[in-house]
Amino acid sequence: MKSKVLLFGPYSKDGLAWSNFGAPPLGVHRIASYLRKRYHKVDVVDPDLEKITEKSFQNLVTKNKYDFIGISPTHLTLENDLALVHLAKRCSPNSTIVAGGQEATFAYDLIFDNSPVHVVVRGEGEKPMLRMTEAPVSGGLMERFGNIKGLIIKDKGVAIPTGCAQPLDNHEFEEVTLGIDFKDIPYDKYWDRTRGLYEDDLANVALRKKRLHEIYAMRLFETNYCPRGCTFCSSTNFQNTVAGKKGTKVVSLSPEAFIKMVESAYLAYPSLKRALIQSDNFLDNNRNQRIKKITELIKLKKGETLPKEMSFICQSRVDNVTPQMLGYLRESNFVMIGYGVESFSKRMLDELNKRVGPQRAEQTISNTLSAGILPYVNVILTSPKSTPYDLFHTVDKCIDYLDLGAEVGSYVCIIPIPGSALASNPESQSLIEAAQVKIPYTNKSFSKTIRLLPEDPLLQELVHRFYEVINDKKSECMEQYNIKHIPARINTLITFSTLYGLAKKLRIPKYGELADRQISRIQKALVNI
Ligand code: SF4
Repeated sequence: MKSKVLLFGPYSKDGLAWSNFGAPPLGVHRIASYLRKRYHKVDVVDPDLEKITEKSFQNLVTKNKYDFIGISPTHLTLENDLALVHLAKRCSPNSTIVAGGQEATFAYDLIFDNSPVHVVVRGEGEKPMLRMTEAPVSGGLMERFGNIKGLIIKDKGVAIPTGCAQPLDNHEFEEVTLGIDFKDIPYDKYWDRTRGLYEDDLANVALRKKRLHEIYAMRLFETNYCPRGCTFCSSTNFQNTVAGKKGTKVVSLSPEAFIKMVESAYLAYPSLKRALIQSDNFLDNNRNQRIKKITELIKLKKGETLPKEMSFICQSRVDNVTPQMLGYLRESNFVMIGYGVESFSKRMLDELNKRVGPQRAEQTISNTLSAGILPYVNVILTSPKSTPYDLFHTVDKCIDYLDLGAEVGSYVCIIPIPGSALASNPESQSLIEAAQVKIPYTNKSFSKTIRLLPEDPLLQELVHRFYEVINDKKSECMEQYNIKHIPARINTLITFSTLYGLAKKLRIPKYGELADRQISRIQKALVNI
C-alpha cells in the first residue's frame, strides 16, 4: 500500500532563515524524491517560504489525512518546529509523526519530552523512511517499526532504540543524490523573493551581474559527512553515532556523477547561474586529480549542457587546498571559496581541534587571492578558553582581508549544538547559556541552549553587552546605509564595528585605543559593499 507523507523543513517563523539568501531544505527534498520514485505521495512544505499560518497549516493537514508527517528540526528553530508537530497531532491524530536530521539524532529525548513525535530517524533518512512507509499499517509502533534499524521509537513513554544503521554506501549515496527531482523544488519562489530585495542593485550596471549570480543559485552537496572532528561541529559524530562506531567512510560523488547532478539542476531550472557546493571535503588534499577531472568536465559541458557563464562557489578547510587546485578552479569559473578558518589565534584553533595553525590559513587566503578567487573567511570569535586578544586579533586580521577584497562571515559565540564535543564536554556546562523558550500554539516551554560563553570575565562582559545592543545596531545600519537585506557579509561588518565600539567603552587594553581607527575602516567597507 502506498503512503501519503508530509515533510516540512525547519520553521524560523521570524524570517531567520531569510537573513541570508533563502534556500530550500535540500535534505528533506532528497528524501521526498526517493519516496516518490517508489510511488509514495509526498508533499514538502517550507513553512517560511509558504509563510504558513496556524490556519493554513491546519487546513493542509486536515484535508490530506497523511499517514506520516515528518519534520527536520534544527537547533535554532526547534521550538517552532515542535509547534508544527503539536498542530499536526491535533488535526491528524492518526498520523505517525517522525523527526529526523542532526538535531533529532542527538536531542531525541528533548523532542520526545516536548512534543507528540512518535519516532526519531537517526542518520540518513531515505532507507528508514521507505521501510516505515512500507511497514504494516496496524499494530503498535514497536510491532510496525521495531525491526527497522536506525530508529528511536517512543513506546509507552520510553525511548527504545532499534539498533545501529549503516550509512549509505557509494552506490546508494549516488542513487539518492542523483535522484533529487530539482523540478519538484520551487527554486523560482526562493529566487523571486530574494530578487525582490535587490531590485535597486539589479538596475545598477556595475552590480547587476554579481547580484544575478547570487540570486539564481543552488546549494548542492556531494559528500555524506566530514570526519575531521572539530569540537564545535556535530558533522563527524552524526554518522559515527548512528553507525555505532568511529571511522565511517566518507563517500562522495564521482566527477561524472557530480556533473550529472549540476546538469540535472540546470535542466530543471534554465535560469540557474551558480552552484554552491556545500562540503568541507570537496577540495580534500588527496583529490587534486578529482578536482582536475571535475573542472575539465565543467569546461567541456559549458555552453552545451551547462550555461556558458555559470559560476561556482565551494567550501574547504584551509589545509586541503593546493595552488594547483586553485588554478583548475579559477579556469572553470569558481569565483569564491568559503574557508572554515575559525580563528587566527593558535590557542583557539587548538581548542577547536582544527589541527591546523593560523599561518596555513594566511597562506591559503593569500594563494586564493593571487589565483583571482575571492576567499570567504568564516570565523568564530570566542570559545570557552579565549581571551580579548584572541577575539580582536582575529577581527583585525579579517579587517585586513576585507581591505584586500575578501568577504567574512562570523559568529561571536559557539552555538552548543547537540552532538558537538563542546556541547557535551563537562567543563563547558557552566559556560552554556540557556533560555526558557515557549512552543508556539501550546502552553509548553523548554530550556534551550543558546550560546557557549568564554570564561574570561572581561570577554564575557563584552559578549553580554554585544547581544544586548546588536539588533538595534543592525536597524541603525539598515537605515543609515539604505540596506534592505543583511546577508552574512554585512552582518559581520556590523558585528565587528559593534565589538570595537564596546572595546572602547569597556576600555579593553590596546583594542579600546584602536577602536576609532578600526571602526572607520569597517564603515568604508560598509559603504563599498
Ligand atoms: S567544522 Fe568543517 S572541517 Fe570541522 S568537522 Fe565540521 S564540517 Fe568538518
